[in-house]
Amino acid sequence: MTALTTDRSEHLFAQAQALMPGGVSSPVRAFKSVGGTPRFIDRGEGAYMVDVDGHRYIDYVMSFGPLLLGHAAPAVVGAIAEQAARGTSFGAPSPLEVDLAETIQALYPSMERLRFVNSGTEGAMSAVRAARAFTGRNKVVKFDGHYHGHADLLLAKAGSGVATLGLPDSPGVPAAVTADTLVAPFNDADAIRDLFRREGEHIAAVLVEPIAGNMGFVQPAEGFLELLREVTRQHGALLVFDEVMVGFRVHEGGAQALFGVTPDLTILGKVIGGGLPVGAYGGRADVMQMMAPEGPVYQAGTLSGNPLAMAAGLALFREAQATGAWALASEAARATAQVIQDAADTAGVPVQTDAVGAMFGFFLTDQPVTDYASAARSDKAAFARLHRLLLDRGVYLPPSPFEACFTSSAHTPEVVEQAAQAFRSAFATL
Ligand SMILES: *Cc1c(COP(=O)(O)O)cnc(C)c1O
Repeated sequence: MTALTTDRSEHLFAQAQALMPGGVSSPVRAFKSVGGTPRFIDRGEGAYMVDVDGHRYIDYVMSFGPLLLGHAAPAVVGAIAEQAARGTSFGAPSPLEVDLAETIQALYPSMERLRFVNSGTEGAMSAVRAARAFTGRNKVVKFDGHYHGHADLLLAKAGSGVATLGLPDSPGVPAAVTADTLVAPFNDADAIRDLFRREGEHIAAVLVEPIAGNMGFVQPAEGFLELLREVTRQHGALLVFDEVMVGFRVHEGGAQALFGVTPDLTILGKVIGGGLPVGAYGGRADVMQMMAPEGPVYQAGTLSGNPLAMAAGLALFREAQATGAWALASEAARATAQVIQDAADTAGVPVQTDAVGAMFGFFLTDQPVTDYASAARSDKAAFARLHRLLLDRGVYLPPSPFEACFTSSAHTPEVVEQAAQAFRSAFATL
């Protein structure tokens, strides 16, 4: 099988690199960890993306999560068009916010109050501000390899395996800003107990991706989320679930419904905007009442609660509930993970696969993956080769071994069977 011609993408990429850093609006899109030319996308259709050279791919990225109904779902497109004709932004409240907030709260009862923002990043930084104001403490615990958007204080992870003071991950983030960010290895109960024993009275919040989706797909160890709930409660800190990625994916009620662990605050994004820019944070009423204008903590946004995003999110939820979309997307995720396991087994390639709801992931390693260190030991060069082989066979995976994969209700059994042939052929060639 020969590599696809990518003349138009190459041309656009050259043009883009002269205009934008790395030619992209967000780093992972540049294909740096898999090599080759990023495909410039002309359009999406259900489970497929079509690039500017006319190649069609089964898409397992789904815009990194939002597109639970697939690309250009008619219900969502219709709702956006209808709302656009009625106005795209008011700088005043609209009934759409009330409808979407009610819809979210019905599935996430822990969100007694919530506020819409424009991205997951904004949601995470605002939740931290709320937690710090409420507790009167500054320290925030996060986990190595967990991503909570690009706000300064959350761009930190430990270089070593021990819980330690966070060092900034990026130039431009002053060490002073991450000095109150404590980083612990995911799934390490002893590290967390230890950290709280030493720092408990200073800790405002623990932020966690309850299922990690930004270091590949890594589930919490049995009892780990329960432990976080227990120690935070004991020490007067808040437990914050970042469900931006896993919300409405691993379960319709998110990881908190799946595991039966109730956080104090929740951060959402991705699916709730139906593919438009959105985020939300919310939780306990007594914490959220700290936010202006009810309380003294400032947080605002010109386009927050944007009517187009609200309309798209509402349309997605209505359509998803009417058509059983989550169950369909979940079956596609389960089936695809199985396909990958079988194709790799047949080819003698070591792999770890996992799927929960409408999300799945895999690591090319023979060792179980439980945290960032074990994820980092997977075969990154083999993943890069696999990624290219799959593109040539019409399957588009996330362009990094540390991203989760996503399905939609448009990933029918026929689509998955088509993908299966590509996976078998790619693993056999690997
Ligand atoms: C995507 C993501 C974010 C950031 O959301 P943006 O909308 O990209 O700012 C935060 N947390 C998690 C867990 C995410 O997956």
